Amino acid sequence: QEDVFKKLVAHCKEYGFVFQSSEIYDGLSAVYDYGQMGVELKNNIKKYWWDSMVLLHENVVGLDSAIFMHPTIWKASGHVDAFNDPLIDNKDSKKRYRADVLIEDLMAKFETKIEKEVAKAKKRFGDAFDEAEFKSTNPRVKANQEKIDTVHQRFVDALDKNDLNELKQIILDYEIACPISGSKNWTDVRQFNLMFSTDMGSTADGSNKIYLRPETAQGIFVNYLNVQKTGRMKIPFGIAQIGKAFRNEIVARQFIFRMREFEQMEMQFFVRPGEEMKWFDKWKETRMSWHKALGFSEDKYRFHDHDKLAHYANAATDIEFKFPFGFKEVEGIHSRTDFDLNQHQDFSGKKIQYFDPELNKSYVPYVIETSIGVDRMFLQIISEAYTEEKIEKENGKVDERVVLKLPTALAPVKLAVMPLVRKDGLPEKAREIINELKFDFNCQYDEKDSIGKRYRRQDAIGTPFCVTVDHQSLEDNTVTIRHRDSMEQERVEISKLYEILKEQVSL
Ligand code: ATP
Repeated sequence: QEDVFKKLVAHCKEYGFVFQSSEIYDGLSAVYDYGQMGVELKNNIKKYWWDSMVLLHENVVGLDSAIFMHPTIWKASGHVDAFNDPLIDNKDSKKRYRADVLIEDLMAKFETKIEKEVAKAKKRFGDAFDEAEFKSTNPRVKANQEKIDTVHQRFVDALDKNDLNELKQIILDYEIACPISGSKNWTDVRQFNLMFSTDMGSTADGSNKIYLRPETAQGIFVNYLNVQKTGRMKIPFGIAQIGKAFRNEIVARQFIFRMREFEQMEMQFFVRPGEEMKWFDKWKETRMSWHKALGFSEDKYRFHDHDKLAHYANAATDIEFKFPFGFKEVEGIHSRTDFDLNQHQDFSGKKIQYFDPELNKSYVPYVIETSIGVDRMFLQIISEAYTEEKIEKENGKVDERVVLKLPTALAPVKLAVMPLVRKDGLPEKAREIINELKFDFNCQYDEKDSIGKRYRRQDAIGTPFCVTVDHQSLEDNTVTIRHRDSMEQERVEISKLYEILKEQVSL
């Protein structure tokens, strides 16, 4: 699995999806640039989200608020005082870790052990295997489950009491993975604020410390009244926004999974107080269906309900996806109560209320938030799409190909058009086809190397359709269309290409 992940990272670079930022200067840790293919895939992901939120929901509208905001906003939101991660250093390896992530990794290790036992037994007993029965009786599974339960309980209690010593003690008790096995040489756990700050204005006229936003949500809350009034919005309604967010993450890991500059797609849905649980459940379900509509295997998704709630929430769940490195959060769904709007009302001194004509009274609305990382979604999609295949050729030899089985609607290039040879008017015919289709679909022209090599190049970037123009095309206006996943080819009329593509590229 680790190996496949390394290959995926290399593939992302080789084909222009993701580059390390500032690479020629040896890179900048946890910051990445999206290349010519990556930007297309990323834009398609954002469009898929935006359309499903804003176009499909009459009562959800968009917003694009600034990254810089009044510094008091981050006081009001609680980020200045509480947006911290617990940090710990190992003195032997001189490496820095997030204490909570170390403990979560530990629990994941026990879980992997259980999964392995289950897989082994499944293989042995075949159809007769009863997983629940096995888990409740097998001593090794039970012992690992007990460890998970104990660590989990201690972890939740420690977070609840903000007991940093106990976090360190768990790490010591389980001799948690560090490069020097069994090393007990840890520093104390201390809190570290994740916000980046900078100065606005020149020092001569008094500069002001301001923050780079660590989430896009606050830009929505402080514009609540503007949008509600000018859009004449009636509760329940939502405001959606896509934009950059910045967090000074302690440990940057797993490629674009945890970045210091990343992008979020957030939607805040304003509801009547008391109705928040109904809407929380509704959005939980809606968001999970959105993920599953991409067509990846359903057992790759799960909800992870939070035991420990953030200071602003009365319910929270994550949608987790099974990445090559295990189940991890892609999206958070939070019931944020009236915390944020109340805080902004207090700190700004402006009334932030909604007059509900049906109830004939005013109140501060409650909020359900759906928050998803564009980059994590990108990583999820590309790691799921990445496939190495062996192909048996007619002469008995085995060929290999790497193909990105991307959902067609998200593929950076939809159609590659290839003249069989670089003469006899075939290139011109190929260009004609592209000129017809390029306003509706991202097309690529490719005339270099053998057709086989060209197919492999398109497979590697996930192009769902390749069209080959040959001499027959000049006579009867037909071409060969080759399908990425099945590699099947068929002869179709050029005039039918638009319809074929149109039907396939919508989700
Ligand atoms: P984590 O527990 O992984 O740090 P979080 O719970 O802090 O994430 P939220 O604050 O709920 O994350 O942010 C919402 C979404 O934004 C996450 O589900 C994730 O997809 C994305 N996200 C958060 N932090 C990062 C990051 N450093 N890099 C990339 N995406 C991120």
